Amino acid sequence: MRPDPLNPLFASAESLTGIGPRLIVLLRKALALPPGVTEPRVVDLLWHLPAGVIDRRAEPSVAEALPGTIATLKVRVLKHRGPPRGNTKAPYKVSTEDDTGRLDLVFFHAERRFIEAQLPEGEIRYVSGRVERYGDTLQMAHPDYIVAPERRGDLPMLEPVYGLTAGLSSKVLGKAMRQAATGVAVLNEWQEVDWLAQRAWPSFNEALRRLHTPTDAADISAAAPPRQRLAYDELLAGQLALGLVRQGARQRPGRSTVGDGRIRTRIKAALPFSLTNSQISALVEIEADMAATTRMQRLLQGDVGSGKTLVALMAMAIAVEAGGQAALMAPTEVLARQHAETILPICAAAGLRVGLLTGREKGRSRAAVLTRLVEGEIDILVGTHALFQPDVVYRDLAFVVIDEQHRFGVHQRMALQAKGGTEGVNVLAMTATPIPRTLLMTHYGDLDVSRLTEKPAGRKPITTTLVSTERIAEVIEGLKRALGQGAQIYWVCPLIETSDVSDLAAAEERAAHLAQTFGDKVGLIHGAMAGPAKDKVMEAFSTDELKILVATTVIEVGVNVPNASIMVIEHAEQFGLAQLHQLRGRVGRGSRQSFCILLWRGPLGEAARARLEMMRDTEDGFLIAEKDLELRGGGEVMGARQSGAPEFRVAEVPGFEELLAAARDDARLVLNADPNLTSPRGEALRALLYLFEQDEAVRLFRAA
Ligand code: ADP
Ligand code: MG
Repeated sequence: MRPDPLNPLFASAESLTGIGPRLIVLLRKALALPPGVTEPRVVDLLWHLPAGVIDRRAEPSVAEALPGTIATLKVRVLKHRGPPRGNTKAPYKVSTEDDTGRLDLVFFHAERRFIEAQLPEGEIRYVSGRVERYGDTLQMAHPDYIVAPERRGDLPMLEPVYGLTAGLSSKVLGKAMRQAATGVAVLNEWQEVDWLAQRAWPSFNEALRRLHTPTDAADISAAAPPRQRLAYDELLAGQLALGLVRQGARQRPGRSTVGDGRIRTRIKAALPFSLTNSQISALVEIEADMAATTRMQRLLQGDVGSGKTLVALMAMAIAVEAGGQAALMAPTEVLARQHAETILPICAAAGLRVGLLTGREKGRSRAAVLTRLVEGEIDILVGTHALFQPDVVYRDLAFVVIDEQHRFGVHQRMALQAKGGTEGVNVLAMTATPIPRTLLMTHYGDLDVSRLTEKPAGRKPITTTLVSTERIAEVIEGLKRALGQGAQIYWVCPLIETSDVSDLAAAEERAAHLAQTFGDKVGLIHGAMAGPAKDKVMEAFSTDELKILVATTVIEVGVNVPNASIMVIEHAEQFGLAQLHQLRGRVGRGSRQSFCILLWRGPLGEAARARLEMMRDTEDGFLIAEKDLELRGGGEVMGARQSGAPEFRVAEVPGFEELLAAARDDARLVLNADPNLTSPRGEALRALLYLFEQDEAVRLFRAA
């Protein structure tokens, strides 16, 4: 249950004076509401932080007032002068003065009654707004504030400026904000006092107050203590929530799977190479996870070509040694088949029985696979999402590997896991898209991570060049020479997102164009092709019958043809960095020197050029991923976020990464020492979790 003092924050914003049904509609537009929230609440106002301030602190006399500046003046109202009858364009003027001079207040399209009420002749008023010179007179058009001396306090000398929406006035919003920010109950401090002191951060309430009712313009800055404090609060709440999820997952029972090593020994003997150190250490971690009685949730990250498949195979072998079955799920048919083919010879040598199940296995062949599966005659089943269809029954599924896991939804992962009975299947997820550290922390904090940082020995660097499409004829000449030396070539045409047809048309056209030079050595593969047709083309390419494979991005993941050493990517400027990196990873797998030619079509903007140059200059997938994140933002890199949903309410500040790392460490320490959050700080942190709406996470631990 959410602590009582927080309840007012989660009440409708209508609970604030001055906010009624009409304004709620406007607020809904102006505020970035989290998914599922339709009714703006007080807390949504609080997270709507000012973008700047208007400084009204200059209080000159009329004679001193500088035209073009914002000022607050104390004047006596002299005379109202409405526009001449029939002339609605002329302004309504009110002349005022102080001891040093005259100031005209000017109103266009004015409502006379309102102005008369605000500015009675003979009275003293404070007016605040932009002072301008108009001919010989000094004037202020539509003052932002007109207040009587006794209401002087209503005039914010430093007025926060909020992101607004048409029809919503900053005055009304500001008033509601002041009320919201100063009305927050004082909660027990959830941050460590030393940490606050070290950073010179204010308390939570003080931070809100300084942001929404500033007395110092510098406080508004996202780098200033009040905002940094709130950012850290949000990050800590997020990290605690992930930590709790992970702790919960760890507490869920998993099957302790311990192998005797006999199959792994045979696999190693069948390999023409030895494992890399990265592979060895990943396997040590995996082995420990599998042996534990809690459920394994590990992510294996490794660049293309780093040898994840072998790690997966060794891990699956553990499950089989322990008497169970394993499944390897890939996102596409091509990839599933490729996996099956790659592991087949080694499995045969090691005595592992492999089955294949994709959408294409139908009728009798499918029935045969299912029978062998349920009878335990298949040790490792490789396939697509067909692996978890309702009628697929395993004799004893103990271990699941999910390749390119970001392509699967959570429910698909769960469905496959559910095939393993009550004990809980251990899961190893793999991804070749290196995930930047920050995203790992914010999105995958519930997973343990192993990284393959080292490439198998003997890999040659890939030479990447940037070439303008105008020089395509030269590129084709170069390809002729390379073909003469036995090379094979991928030629990738861009995905045109709005239409599969034009996407396909582009690839078909390019294939036809290349066929003019290279004849029947050119093949074409694209997403719209039927499975068997795709296999046939892939097969012809991998047996070196086809020399050039023109493809849409269907070849993006996983395909392995070691003899292919040249990758041409057309319209490279249209691809994301991570995608280019994936594509380039298709080459550089054999003994040949490999090349990647990025064909670009101008004009190239500065950013696009920088991206392509980055590709040319590095092959480090992790570095590229970081850059991609920087250029495109987290939501897009992950692809799975609901569009428009804010990732963070307040945490996107300078120093974000450092704060995030600190929050992660802090959360770990807290949960290690106080897993149920029952210490005084733990109790305070529960309020923090509710404040940032991590209620789900709070539910995960037993109420103490
Ligand atoms: P990934 O799936 O990580 O992109 P793969 O598992 O497809 O990479 O491996 C790429 C290639 O490297 C394969 O041809 C594989 O046989 C080879 N390979 C894997 N591990 C090693 C190793 N330790 N030494 C040499 N080659 C390896
Ligand atoms: Mg792979």
